[in-house]
Amino acid sequence: MGARKFFVGGNWKCNGTIKLVESLVETLNKGEIPDTDVVEVVVAPTAVHIPLVQSSLRKDFAIAAQNAWVKGSGAYTGELSAEILADLGLPWVILGHSERRSLIGESSELIADKTKYCLDKGLGVILCIGESLEEREAGKTFEVVAGQLAPVAGKISDWSKVVIAYEPVWAIGTGKVASPEQAQETHADIRGWLADKVSADVAASTRIIYGGSVSAGNSDTLATAADIDGFLVGGASLKPDFIKIINSAT
Ligand code: PEP
Repeated sequence: MGARKFFVGGNWKCNGTIKLVESLVETLNKGEIPDTDVVEVVVAPTAVHIPLVQSSLRKDFAIAAQNAWVKGSGAYTGELSAEILADLGLPWVILGHSERRSLIGESSELIADKTKYCLDKGLGVILCIGESLEEREAGKTFEVVAGQLAPVAGKISDWSKVVIAYEPVWAIGTGKVASPEQAQETHADIRGWLADKVSADVAASTRIIYGGSVSAGNSDTLATAADIDGFLVGGASLKPDFIKIINSAT
């Protein structure tokens, strides 16, 4: 794993009553996890629940937004700008989640613009990429992830606050996790792409985390793969299992 600190994100998506959020925070606050020099943990509640989580969650867990607008504050009804997120004190934002790509129609160009804007405003970006089942079966996985990364590489030069989340669409929320070999192969390809198109230093230092049906039952094995530097977790981040997944860092 080298200098790449293990990173575990919990994406709560569009879930959560106040009661559920309070109970999740209680579970996290009681959880035994490794020190912050071993693992970085970030949870992404819905935007409206962020202040509640900020005021009640222990401080070794950081908080992320699930999305940001591509520009600054202004007449963009319903959106949240990077300035608003930074003003709230949020260190991270998730961008390019497959649900936003497929359901909202966000393009890789738009996501690259968002990435640049958020980085410029001081946020760290969890940048999600990944292929559909059809694309994998057509042997296009590398082509697809490279195509999603290329617009970002064209727009940013500092990758130090970017975490790449490789999330094969066919594995998200389906219970069909990528095998450690499948995930490792694509992670290594992504790292190779970074070495080729950006720099050897960025390739060596950028964390590439895996997402897609990660569970308490499969995280330890996935974590042993050389190029898997952590996880982005959806469903299991709403359960006590999330603590076990965080502990796969050690
Ligand atoms: C996700 O939405 O980022 C995700 C990986 O979901 P799940 O863990 O539920 O597959």
